[in-house]
Amino acid sequence: MTVNATGPWLDRTIAPVRKRKKPLLRLTKGIHLVTPRASERAHVLFAKDDGRLFFVVPFLDMTIVGTTDTDYDGDPADAAATEDDVRYLHDAARRAFPNAPFDHIYFTWAGVRALVREEGVEEGEVSRKHGLFDHEKREGVAGLLSVVGGKITGYRDIAGEATDAVMSKLERRGRASTDDVPLPGARQADSDAALPPNVTAGTVSYLASVYGSRASRVLELIGEDPGLAAPLCPHHHGVVAEVTHAVHREWARTIGDVLLRRTMLGITACQGLDCVEAIAGRVGALLGWDDTRQREEVARYRHEIEPMRRFSTA
Ligand SMILES: Cc1cc2nc3c(=O)[nH]c(=O)nc-3n(C[C@H](O)[C@H](O)[C@H](O)COP(=O)(O)OP(=O)(O)OC[C@H]3O[C@@H](n4cnc5c(N)ncnc54)[C@H](O)[C@@H]3O)c2cc1C
Repeated sequence: MTVNATGPWLDRTIAPVRKRKKPLLRLTKGIHLVTPRASERAHVLFAKDDGRLFFVVPFLDMTIVGTTDTDYDGDPADAAATEDDVRYLHDAARRAFPNAPFDHIYFTWAGVRALVREEGVEEGEVSRKHGLFDHEKREGVAGLLSVVGGKITGYRDIAGEATDAVMSKLERRGRASTDDVPLPGARQADSDAALPPNVTAGTVSYLASVYGSRASRVLELIGEDPGLAAPLCPHHHGVVAEVTHAVHREWARTIGDVLLRRTMLGITACQGLDCVEAIAGRVGALLGWDDTRQREEVARYRHEIEPMRRFSTA
């Protein structure tokens, strides 16, 4: 069996095997602004224009303002903030915080929600519930199950439900173990484990916040090679060992994988741009990149984050 869990790409992924063309999803875009720290607390606010709920939330040493909710019909990979999106959030947040540093934007984020298709209602009114679509039962395409819609907060339940559905279709015994197995990194950390001598308390608490109890695996790397305790970037608590961990244990293959999808550096104010060449050198040493390939990978990272930086003021 194939489980199609390709989020907002779902309809594109299965188009070649479906006879019916009606999409299963309604796509809506949401963007966030990332600005200097505006408040020490998280705020739930309502936009004056349309009464929509949005948040102003502390994140690392910054603030996130968002989100928007507008219908979207392009490739989800191309989603980016527009001037209207930025103005909408900026004006709404400015009403609540007249003196906050919202004119200074580090970067924006855009994502596409994959919602179970519902028409005739406003974007914000579409249900956030998920569903499993059995293509055999509904359309006669055997061996294919789609996970439609849902929220990240429900991902373990959704995964469990999909696993149970597959087991039942294959007439196998057993069920998903998501109720019993702790999340990766959620087990109690071993507080007696010896720390490498060159690691600061700040680094330990940062690593614990990112990796949970699996921070010990990053610390082990530093134990083997003390040089890996060096900072990844002068503006950030991250350490070089995280690159080794990302490449060797988390399948990172590009600078974007390391900075945006494994460590937190790509979503800090500088996005790693101040030291991207050094990071390319470190990733390249692990993946066997020569100088030309390193330059290409740096260009690829810059290109990847360009949509996030269209409204950056610094
Ligand atoms: C603006 C915004 C705000 C949100 N806020 C919240 C919130 O506050 N709380 C909450 O719980 N949820 C929120 N969500 C929803 C949450 O992000 C999603 O529910 C979650 O990311 C869905 O995960 P997923 O794994 O189903 O899909 P995705 O994370 O989209 O993953 C799909 C994956 O499929 C891959 N893929 C695509 N095509 C193929 C293919 N052909 N072959 C192989 N792989 C493929 C893609 O590369 C991608 O990695 C928000 C979403 C957005 C956009």
